[in-house]
Amino acid sequence: MIKFDYLEPTTLKKTFNLMDKHGDDARVIAGGTSLLIMMRQRLLVPKVVISLARIPKFDKIAYSAKDGLRIGAGARHRDIELSPIVKRHYPLLHETFRKVAQPRIRNMGTVGGNLAAGDPLTDPGASLIALDAEVELTSGKGQRTLRLDEFFIDYYQTALAPGELLTEIHVPPPKRPGWAHIKFTPRSVEDFATVGVALTLSASNGVCEDVRLALNSVAPTIIHAKRAEQTLRGKTITDAALREMGEVAATEVDPMDDNRGSADYKREMVKVLVRRAVQEALQRLH
Ligand SMILES: Cc1cc2nc3c(=O)[nH]c(=O)nc-3n(C[C@H](O)[C@H](O)[C@H](O)COP(=O)(O)OP(=O)(O)OC[C@H]3O[C@@H](n4cnc5c(N)ncnc54)[C@H](O)[C@@H]3O)c2cc1C
Repeated sequence: MIKFDYLEPTTLKKTFNLMDKHGDDARVIAGGTSLLIMMRQRLLVPKVVISLARIPKFDKIAYSAKDGLRIGAGARHRDIELSPIVKRHYPLLHETFRKVAQPRIRNMGTVGGNLAAGDPLTDPGASLIALDAEVELTSGKGQRTLRLDEFFIDYYQTALAPGELLTEIHVPPPKRPGWAHIKFTPRSVEDFATVGVALTLSASNGVCEDVRLALNSVAPTIIHAKRAEQTLRGKTITDAALREMGEVAATEVDPMDDNRGSADYKREMVKVLVRRAVQEALQRLH
């Protein structure tokens, strides 16, 4: 491991002061599950590592019927998975966080670190997009809120500016009661997804009122598949409509050939799994 100074500020203000002082020499660390691997591989060589672990209430999970869910960026995957509030009001999130890696990683990794890493293979981002989530980004100079589907810019690149931290995730009260999460991992259940599909849906008398679809592991970022949604919105949900939605979703992705499968294979699986996700969400409505 490289040599670095390790700092543990106890307030957000002190954290921003340290970030400003050390600039590009510094990197923040939350659970460390991603950062330490990059440091060990010399992909990142910070001189100073600033821990977020001692910031008060950085891991809070709060819910109100009016405002929805507010998750501190320092909440660990396991906290979210086991939260009774999340399980009751956001079963899609419970299901998603249950499937992140294995308990050792879930006990350490945080939702903030997961999203901030901008890794397209990760799971929470797609489900949070399907639930209309926003992220709160804070620096010493102020705060801004961004829709999560605007946060992922490119491969490992997010909208976070230098000196900014992801501080909170806001998930409004669910607008669509049907949901599905499919993490397709043919190699091992603990693997990253070969294709990940998160969907929320409202429907009445077999007609899709509204739908929101996000996909991971099939493009340089986690994506919000808006054109696919558009094909189903307002339509009667038939096999033909679902096939069309799957076909359109496959045109919105840009997968890579890798050890989880070829790009063509992943594109075909998108067609199948998007259809299946709508069917699962419909079943949950009945
Ligand atoms: C073996 C293994 C298997 C995994 N499997 C999965 C999986 O199946 N699904 C999945 O989704 N993920 C998986 N992951 C990824 C894991 O979920 C992430 O590594 C983890 O969530 C990152 O969170 P962390 O707190 O450990 O972040 P860290 O490693 O501490 O930080 C990651 C990056 O984010 C930055 N950062 C951290 N917090 C903030 C913040 N609040 N604001 C701004 N920047 C910040 C850091 O500077 C760093 O660049 C796996 C990881 C490993 C090692």
